[in-house]
Amino acid sequence: MKDRKLLMIPGPIEFEPAVLSALGAPTTSHTAPDFVEAFGQALERMRQVFLSTDGQPFILAGSGTLAMDTAGANLVEPGDRVLVVNTGYFGDRFAALLERYGAQVTQVRAAVGGRPSPETVEDALRGNQYKLLVITHVDTSTGVITDVRALAALGRKYGTLVVVDGVCSVAGEELRMSEWGVDVALTASQKAIGVPPGLALVMAGPRAMEAFRARRSPVANYYADWSNWLPIMRAYEARQVAYFGTPAVNLVWALNVSLGQILAEGLDARFARHRALASAVRAGIAVLGLGQVPLEGQFAANTMTAPRFPPGVTAAGFLPRVSAAGVTLAGGLHPAIKSEYFRIGHMGSTNLGDILATLGAIEAGLASCGHAFPLGAGVAAAQAAFYEASSQPA
Ligand code: PMP
Repeated sequence: MKDRKLLMIPGPIEFEPAVLSALGAPTTSHTAPDFVEAFGQALERMRQVFLSTDGQPFILAGSGTLAMDTAGANLVEPGDRVLVVNTGYFGDRFAALLERYGAQVTQVRAAVGGRPSPETVEDALRGNQYKLLVITHVDTSTGVITDVRALAALGRKYGTLVVVDGVCSVAGEELRMSEWGVDVALTASQKAIGVPPGLALVMAGPRAMEAFRARRSPVANYYADWSNWLPIMRAYEARQVAYFGTPAVNLVWALNVSLGQILAEGLDARFARHRALASAVRAGIAVLGLGQVPLEGQFAANTMTAPRFPPGVTAAGFLPRVSAAGVTLAGGLHPAIKSEYFRIGHMGSTNLGDILATLGAIEAGLASCGHAFPLGAGVAAAQAAFYEASSQPA
């Protein structure tokens, strides 16, 4: 038997063979003409994937947390007020990170699985002049999606810079930076962008770059300082060589391949596919009798799902059985409910077959943990929901 598992966690995800072969190709020099071309093209493609007409892309070696760190380091000066819309663990992380750079952080929160209403956010914005409004698009600890479009409009209305943690959203959830007035969006390679872990990807719009240039104090983080990286990104985009820190050469090659695939699919088609697959997962989970962490249907993300365990089923009993059936899923992450739920990632190049295999393995896990339901019901409901959502003939 092949020791083969389908990796269905909310990052890292399953990667396309062409991306993996770019990663495994002999490493080139970071100054080789073909690498300069690939890096330059990846920067241009990033702008298209983030739906930013005029943003400044940054591709750095690091994880998503480094992408968050660059936003904090470059945009916050000691004493700046920041409003964080907190929907879980990654909101907590962003708040802590911003405080490290001297921000005075105010948080608007909701119950676990909820999200602050636009009215609550607007009340907070009315109360103080904030430099940044920070939003987690999809908090991976709860599977809650925020309404970035509505919140960004509030940010514009009150004159704050809008920063979006899109680590669990970019290239999966609809996110239109320029159209919606988002100033910084950031992600990491291992999620819907479809490249193994190791790249921090940031898009900074013109207002963010303006605020960065207007700083009075130096950036308190040497590696993350945009002053160091801006000339490098500009040079590669102009197909010239420049050096600050050695780029993650193979990852950049792989990124360019993956971005090309994303653009070939088309962003609208990609967002629609994620919506259809998510509705399949949700339908399957519901018919098996499992609730979800997001408190309302419209709060549930399309890149991942966070089902609650039914009574009598635990992570320790369930996850290894799902794994034995060939699918790797993730346990809980939010500290308040960690043992009560599990997480399924369905982003990037995930297809219907992956979703059906995953639901089949979830059924196997639930059944062997003693949870009663009609075998096959989850898979059937997922099929039906997918065809309805994507209006493809069954
Ligand atoms: N933000 C969100 C929403 C995430 O899901 C993650 C990773 N799960 C991060 C930030 C941090 O990214 P990384 O683990 O790559 O540092």
